[in-house]
Amino acid sequence: MPTLLLRNGRVIDPAQDLDRVADLWLKDGTVLGVGPQPGVTPDRTLDCTGLIVSPGLIDMHVHLREPGREEDETIATGTAAAVAGGVTSVACMPNTEPPLDSRDAAEFVIQQARRAGHCNVFPIGTVTKDREGKELAELGGLAEGGAVAFTDDGSPVYSAEIMRRALEYCKMFDRAVLVHAEILELTQGGVMNEGFVSMQLGLRGMPAVAEDIMIARDIMLAELTGGKVHILHVSTAGGVDLIRRGIAKGIRVTGEACPHHFILTDESLRTFDSNYKMSPPLRTQADADAILAGLKDGTLSVLATDHAPHAPEKKERELDQAPNGILGLETFLPLCVTHLIEPGHLTWPQMLAKMTVNPAAVLGIDRGTLKPGRPADVTVIDPKVRWTIDRNESKSKSRNTPFHGAAVVGRAAATIVGGEVKMTRLG
Ligand SMILES: [Zn+2]
Ligand SMILES: [Zn+2]
Repeated sequence: MPTLLLRNGRVIDPAQDLDRVADLWLKDGTVLGVGPQPGVTPDRTLDCTGLIVSPGLIDMHVHLREPGREEDETIATGTAAAVAGGVTSVACMPNTEPPLDSRDAAEFVIQQARRAGHCNVFPIGTVTKDREGKELAELGGLAEGGAVAFTDDGSPVYSAEIMRRALEYCKMFDRAVLVHAEILELTQGGVMNEGFVSMQLGLRGMPAVAEDIMIARDIMLAELTGGKVHILHVSTAGGVDLIRRGIAKGIRVTGEACPHHFILTDESLRTFDSNYKMSPPLRTQADADAILAGLKDGTLSVLATDHAPHAPEKKERELDQAPNGILGLETFLPLCVTHLIEPGHLTWPQMLAKMTVNPAAVLGIDRGTLKPGRPADVTVIDPKVRWTIDRNESKSKSRNTPFHGAAVVGRAAATIVGGEVKMTRLG
């Protein structure tokens, strides 16, 4: 494999507290080092002057839909979208058909990802068999097959007793349980956040407490068991506060924010456009502000997309019939630059930590840093380029984004996976 020189970029590696203009060298699929490498000659050089050189971005919350819903996305198209967006590793959610609840299923995902050859895919297994919430899945077998964490995402783990046992079991091999927090009796029939806007529109709402109650439960179960919980897609001010207090008590809880929950609010539903329909729903400005505060003070240590492709014929139904969720992989970086870096909420090292080393730590994977000897996954970022998001240019099979036509700043300029340049917009 050739030696690659990324010349003269601003190399930021939060894991090493590194932020300086330097050369980065990659050799034989691993990181050789930062700075001069005497006696080494590059086979290929990318001029990164004026650009940021980051560890490859990790999106730990992605729905790839294969097997079972290939009309929405496949492992090949989803990972192509990842690479186009500067993402070098994705963790994929197990709510496929059938769900990823066995060793064979986890191995299938890894094999398909290898065949596609775009980016790294780390499967996440279900907590319960068939995602039915009735009995624990074969967590040990799933882990042997390559599953890096466990969740019934799309649905909560309804039984507190099963959640407790999952945390106890996962603690033995130091894996996290990822929480989709939702009390279903409180959200039934809901299409948006419950509040002033839902009342005005006459639409059935989902109250914030439906999320908060389960976040509280699972933080308490993490305290009881000593297990590791990660709260997916936190959308409420109450949820941020619960996680903040859990961390302060020394409980093993981490929290994740998705761009739509701090950029958009339930006011968007006035359009009745199903591209604003997701679970958990878009909340109020006060909730969005609380998520920003949680990102700033470190309570929310992970940024992820909840990339949820749906074929147009499904998403174009009436609001109450349309499925939840939006695309994320190709809009992830520009939305975060535009709404976190540009207004000064986060510095580049702070933001990149939430997209590299922090998700790697939650999943326990050997990625997210440019330390010598580690896999050569690198994202080169143009921090200043201004462009307009166009869903028709997406590599995904689906088109469901509310950000079509949005003016943004920042974009991946090159995506390098295992030392191979998988995407480049450099000349
Ligand atoms: Zn979810
Ligand atoms: Zn999800």
